[in-house]
Amino acid sequence: SDIGSQKERVVTEEEWLQKWEMGNIGFHKEQGHPLLQKYLDVLLNGRSGLRIFFPLCGKAVEMKWLADMGHSVIGVEVSEQAVKDFFSEHSLPYCEEPVPEISGAKMFQSTSGNISLYCCSIYDLSSSIVGKFDGVWDRGALVAVNPRDRQRYASLMIDLVEKNSSYLLVTVSYDPNKHKGPPFYVPESEVKSLFG
Ligand code: SAH
Repeated sequence: SDIGSQKERVVTEEEWLQKWEMGNIGFHKEQGHPLLQKYLDVLLNGRSGLRIFFPLCGKAVEMKWLADMGHSVIGVEVSEQAVKDFFSEHSLPYCEEPVPEISGAKMFQSTSGNISLYCCSIYDLSSSIVGKFDGVWDRGALVAVNPRDRQRYASLMIDLVEKNSSYLLVTVSYDPNKHKGPPFYVPESEVKSLFG
């Protein structure tokens, strides 16, 4: 089986920045994800004014969508280009400030205050810096994390969510012996062992 060989594979932050620079961002979709639409009620569970987290957010259009519904959206993304593209493509004015707790990190916030995107590695975040979230939209995040970092990623996510939160995780079911990815292959058994 090839699953083993994926385990060693590493995509560096530098490589991600290059993908953004070269426009190799086939993962970005202009249309909102149909599964978010479908499972929106599971995410919101009748609640309003939630804090919703987008790990490894890219310039996901669903952030605008949830913000327009009255929720606070917080994202994290290593590529400053992605973050700036997000705001400019939606014609959203924003301001930019350093994050005192994280050296080199910046926080980009819409002037209206309801979208805050941290430009740094997700591993720099903790609940003491960003607080806890009521909901998570994980599309192209767990499956983009290097296999060796999955446990660390899952532990962090568990630290970042409130007790009564909902976590929507998009995975792709495929035969890892036929397709190399990306994204990485995350078997359902591993999702269960990571998140319990
Ligand atoms: N969730 C987005 C993007 C998925 S692609 C969407 O649905 O379109 C994964 C993104 O994670 C890329 O934009 C990449 O630049 C970013 N990324 C990769 N490693 C990261 C890390 N350690 N911390 C923060 N962002 C990261």
